[in-house]
Amino acid sequence: MLTRTHYDHLVVGGGFYGAVLASELAARGRRVVLCERAGDLLQRASLNNQARVHNGYHYPRSLLTALRSRVNFQRFSDEFSPAIVSNFRKLYAVPRRFSKVSARQFVRFVEQIGAPIEPASRYDTALFDSDLIEAVFSVVEHAFDAVILKQLVRERMDRRGVELALNTEVLRFQKHPEGLEVHYRDSSGEGLVTATEVLNCTYSGINDLLKRSGLPVLRIKHELTEMALIQPPEELRGLGVTVMCGPFFSCMPYPALQQHTLSHVRYTPHLAWEDSDDGETEMGERWMAAPKVSKYPHMIRASSLYLPCMARSRYQSSIWEVKSVLPQSEGDDSRPILFRRDHGLPGLICVMGGKLDNIYDALMEYHPGSTAP
Ligand SMILES: Cc1cc2nc3c(=O)[nH]c(=O)nc-3n(C[C@H](O)[C@H](O)[C@H](O)COP(=O)(O)OP(=O)(O)OC[C@H]3O[C@@H](n4cnc5c(N)ncnc54)[C@H](O)[C@@H]3O)c2cc1C
Repeated sequence: MLTRTHYDHLVVGGGFYGAVLASELAARGRRVVLCERAGDLLQRASLNNQARVHNGYHYPRSLLTALRSRVNFQRFSDEFSPAIVSNFRKLYAVPRRFSKVSARQFVRFVEQIGAPIEPASRYDTALFDSDLIEAVFSVVEHAFDAVILKQLVRERMDRRGVELALNTEVLRFQKHPEGLEVHYRDSSGEGLVTATEVLNCTYSGINDLLKRSGLPVLRIKHELTEMALIQPPEELRGLGVTVMCGPFFSCMPYPALQQHTLSHVRYTPHLAWEDSDDGETEMGERWMAAPKVSKYPHMIRASSLYLPCMARSRYQSSIWEVKSVLPQSEGDDSRPILFRRDHGLPGLICVMGGKLDNIYDALMEYHPGSTAP
């Protein structure tokens, strides 16, 4: 059971966002509790993702997202340096056909955002089918180890005195004279506490919680996604590859498991839906629990057209996760954040970031003018 009857802040969701925001608030001397329904922190999207520390290259159709990524890249890499993996070469390749940018446009865009870029080595370029690929570039992009990241945010929470309630599911909240009344369930049954402010950091579950509390849903689109975990062929071991910009693929180191992820724009999303006030609830959780059929053979076949050695990669398993994006990301693949204060109830804040490094944008929204988490 939670140790107090009232908190200054109750954070729902122990992913990267909830953990960092809870630490930030505790550092300001507030009484903070974080409720996470799983038995550990960072078990969902903050673990089940491509582990890319974005440096802008991925967003030629959204200059704002690219520029924010540039700013956040260095800060994230410095702040969480023990979790950062940079011992691989990173290539971006532009196909001759079906790409939304040409090689020349891509270079111009990268120069505009001030990111490093140079032609890839002859050895790396020769890995690709030159009939299909117009140009290959060497760039600077990192990966993160989500397991080390979890340890770092956990240590920070402990140091700053955040009360951590694992295996604790928040059921709903409602108005209360002291802020909000929060109903939860843990191993000893159901309980209730009050908090001056509640932060809903449940990512794909944000609307589930709002619905259960009788509050209007936010416009969020979800996709059930699959990334294949593979042992890449020898040539790709020290490499991360992204072929863009269109219906192509990425093959990136996934440091937490010492494997590579393979994602494909066409085959990674299995199905999509948008929350609505009168639609079904808990769709994401139901899909996550349902039996699923992998599309890894399609991913490997499609990627080996451009990068023939991919045909020799060995499939290990798949990472499944619900990916949640704001509808405005649809057209340009941008990654804006959702930060909604007093949503339906005074003192209720909903936070969702499209990438881990957007945490800095969320912190700026929370404390305009603040720089440090
Ligand atoms: C396929 C995919 C690839 C991605 N690739 C990248 C990438 O390469 N780089 C990048 O930076 N970002 C990437 N992202 C985005 C990134 O994963 C998310 O932006 C980030 O993890 C969101 O963090 P979070 O803390 O909000 O969510 P989560 O990590 O999902 O945390 C939410 C937590 O809330 C808990 N919860 C839910 N409901 C309740 C409840 N009622 N009570 C208590 N707890 C609850 C959940 O158990 C979970 O632990 C990717 C995402 C996906 C899905």
